[in-house]
Amino acid sequence: MNRQVLDELKQQIPLLDYLQAHDWQPARQLSRGRWMGLCPLHPDHKPSFLVDSGKSLFYCYGCGRGGDVIRFAELYHQVKFPQALTLLHQWRGLAPLLHQVTGFYRMQLHRHGEAVAYLHQRGVRSPEVIEHMRIGYAPGGCLRGWLTQLGYPLPTLRQAGLVTGVGYDAYVRRIVFPLEGNLYGRSLSDSAPPHRFLPGTKGGLYSWEQVRRYAEVILVEGLFDYAALWEAGFHNVTCSLGTHLNVRQFRQLCDGSRTVYLTLDADGNDSGQQAARCLSRSLREQGITAHLVSLPEGHDPNSFFVSGGNADEFQLLLERACL
Ligand SMILES: [Zn+2]
Repeated sequence: MNRQVLDELKQQIPLLDYLQAHDWQPARQLSRGRWMGLCPLHPDHKPSFLVDSGKSLFYCYGCGRGGDVIRFAELYHQVKFPQALTLLHQWRGLAPLLHQVTGFYRMQLHRHGEAVAYLHQRGVRSPEVIEHMRIGYAPGGCLRGWLTQLGYPLPTLRQAGLVTGVGYDAYVRRIVFPLEGNLYGRSLSDSAPPHRFLPGTKGGLYSWEQVRRYAEVILVEGLFDYAALWEAGFHNVTCSLGTHLNVRQFRQLCDGSRTVYLTLDADGNDSGQQAARCLSRSLREQGITAHLVSLPEGHDPNSFFVSGGNADEFQLLLERACL
């Protein structure tokens, strides 16, 4: 790969855009175009990560690492140089497209009564949580036409997984939550598989950059659990999108000293609780304090609140959680 191609890639992906797309937020501005924030590469409690958006360079006074967007991708995703380039190329193609799709689906949400009714039924009622999570709705049968009109070629949409092999919208009658480089779609109808993701990784922990600063973190497995807790005022909540954490999610939970409240589903076959016990052992091996939260039998955090549980009652469950 020659110098010119690398420079082009770096020009097309401003470091600050890439950081912010990975949930990084500047804590304060030093001078024009120079920002300080928490370091996404090491456990950081006071902002030590400097970003020069004009030069597209970073330097961390905590862990002593710095460089350009390619170096950042290497360190952040823990991959070697060629893989970092591949990730950046993919991101460059996918990010603007997913941004468009998210905007389109958000616009659809309030045009479709069945979507709003479904959210209500799952306890998602406040405009704040819908805004915070950027929740949208995929009615189906209109995304492809809209994106084609914007100039996206069909093969690109197929490759991203937004359109099926035979040319239909992949997300039909689904509530859609944008993730880091992916979209989670929850089906409204019982006849379709309930969960849908685009091909590729589910990404890191949900909203991690906002949550990691808390000394106590609540971990749930589903986005509707997340929504219910956030709406009840627990903003120190994050979500693993499934019972099992991927390597990056596990590493994130361990990126600083904290207490983690594992709040997985108390389902009939005990698989959630089993996974929680296993995870709590692994966390303790890494020096993280992990508590298991016991929900009433058959409940997940979402159904706990939907069936009338309130914040005080949930707070009691946290206080009663065992090591
Ligand atoms: Zn650092």
